[in-house]
Amino acid sequence: MLRKMTPVSMDNVRFTGGLLKERIEKNASVTAPLMYQRCLETGRIGVLRHWKWDGNPETEPHPFWDSDIGKMIESAAYALRQRPNAELEKKIDQVIERLEALQLPDGYLNSYFQAAVPEEGRFQNLYYMHELYCAGHLIEGAVAWYEATGKRKFLDIMIRYADLLEELFSDSGRGMPGYAGHPEIELALVRLFRATGEKKYLNLARTFLDRRGREPYFFEQESLKRGVDTTRTANQKRHLKFFLEREGPYAEYQAHKPVRLQSAPVGHAVRAMYLYSGMAEVADCCEDEGLLEACRVLWDSVIHTQYAITGGIGAASNGERFTFAYDLPNEHTYNESCASVALVQWADRMLQMEEDAQYADIIEQTLYNVVLGSVSHDGERFFYANYLSVYPRWYQNASKALNDKMQAERQPWFQVSCCPPNICRLIGSLGGRMASVSERQLWIHQYAACRIEASMGGRSICLDMDTDYPWDGRVQMRIRTEQAQEGTLALRIPGWCRTYRLTVNQESSKAKMEKGYVHLTRIWETGDTVRLELEMPVTLMQAHPKVREDCGKVAVMRGPVVYCVEGEDNGEEISNLSIDTGKEIKYSAGMLTVQPEAVCIELAGYRLKGNEEKRLYRPADFRREPAVIRAIPYFLRGNRGFTEMQVWLRYERA
Ligand SMILES: [Zn+2]
Repeated sequence: MLRKMTPVSMDNVRFTGGLLKERIEKNASVTAPLMYQRCLETGRIGVLRHWKWDGNPETEPHPFWDSDIGKMIESAAYALRQRPNAELEKKIDQVIERLEALQLPDGYLNSYFQAAVPEEGRFQNLYYMHELYCAGHLIEGAVAWYEATGKRKFLDIMIRYADLLEELFSDSGRGMPGYAGHPEIELALVRLFRATGEKKYLNLARTFLDRRGREPYFFEQESLKRGVDTTRTANQKRHLKFFLEREGPYAEYQAHKPVRLQSAPVGHAVRAMYLYSGMAEVADCCEDEGLLEACRVLWDSVIHTQYAITGGIGAASNGERFTFAYDLPNEHTYNESCASVALVQWADRMLQMEEDAQYADIIEQTLYNVVLGSVSHDGERFFYANYLSVYPRWYQNASKALNDKMQAERQPWFQVSCCPPNICRLIGSLGGRMASVSERQLWIHQYAACRIEASMGGRSICLDMDTDYPWDGRVQMRIRTEQAQEGTLALRIPGWCRTYRLTVNQESSKAKMEKGYVHLTRIWETGDTVRLELEMPVTLMQAHPKVREDCGKVAVMRGPVVYCVEGEDNGEEISNLSIDTGKEIKYSAGMLTVQPEAVCIELAGYRLKGNEEKRLYRPADFRREPAVIRAIPYFLRGNRGFTEMQVWLRYERA
């Protein structure tokens, strides 16, 4: 393994208060059961019986449906680890029985192919039909269900399927060429390897990665075999042409060149994040430094050129894809929730190998903005696209032409509903992303009121964290140990924090700082208390000058939380507002009834005058009036009706 630390299991992290506890509990009690309900209502569970689709468009199954089932079960598994729910557990067990009944004798399992497409069509269109993607999500669901309940049935079903894939695709098996159009199977096979110790799954994951992007292009060979040419037919994605000219064929699916030679993110953002997560997993388990280096290069490019301040990635809705460096629009961006979910998963894998706080920083920034904000406060509605600027009339005008994914109001579900269960499983898994252990070290990556039970140097240690993070930067950690033990507590100092104070038992501590973590090494005893005070002022953020849409604008952050202004608090035409950067910035809790403890911000500024005049254009008179601008956390946007919203605001320097 290349990883230098191992995450502390979610079973050993118990949230005791604060924002994350509230969100994780709502996720477990409301959102996870809702995912089952939506899968049931939309036919995704019904299709898991042996039946043939009769051609009725109302009941047409969908090639991605099994991936929703996999993520729904994974979400339920994490919910059960939070709190027992016999009713939900029984429902999932019934779904698993259906999956077992549907599975073919050779191990194959895909509701779409079994219901809607003749069986001989299987594995004939890896480019588009998502069979390996669906298999991957079912494998992840199966491992999570086994870990949550100890029940093996689903795991055994997916082992049978994985064995079939291994027999078909591996070089030691039948050597069928190919790899997935939508990555996911790679990281899922590594997860299955970690759960079972069976190395052939890891080898197959590596094979899929090593084959990807080599010439002659598999996707072309495959389509020619079927009598169509995906590089030239118009009914394949039209935007493929763009990539053909710029990056080479199949860049849309990151299959334009070998993965180790890919240096900048291209194509479909969710595919890219799943692929890079799989690369990081294989790099870790195969101790493949070259693959890890490719991940580092890709990471650097994503984070420094195509990452929205809110944690969104993949700016173009056309193709749900990356575009080019510094192209970060606000009103007409895309930033699919799934892409940010998968970015967090990739970052987590990099963090375990690199011991570098930059990865935990991105997890934090993505989590507290896009991820928490992609689900409504009541846990029942979701964003697919995550805009940084919304003008409702534009959507009301365009609503017929826009599909549900592009709506700027959260939706209960989507025609292609990858995002809701993905958001749900990520929030459900947060307990496992708080801390890690290495030989004599306990690493704290994220701050929240919780109890962490871990081991340090082979002995158990308990850390009680008390904080009101992210609303307050003060964190107190009390240690309990069975007996005194030497070890290191490594605490992340977030990248946003410029000044902090650290004391151990009230004595200030000058600890070694390495890659964003302070390392406190001592003999730890019960009662030892560490206090970390992260100064958390309101900060006006500027984008790189090449981000053309943000020139002359600032965004407001406090700690990891990005703020936005909404029409609800600031009246109509919020683009008329500008911040006076010379004035005092106030902040306090209690402004938002939907989340009273949320810290909100008041900025002094101005509002343009002249709205009452008829002339569309007039000589500039620069008239404006003083205004108080109220900003709320971006993740709480859109919980009070459909209203204007903006993250980046014009400013004036007094
Ligand atoms: Zn999605």
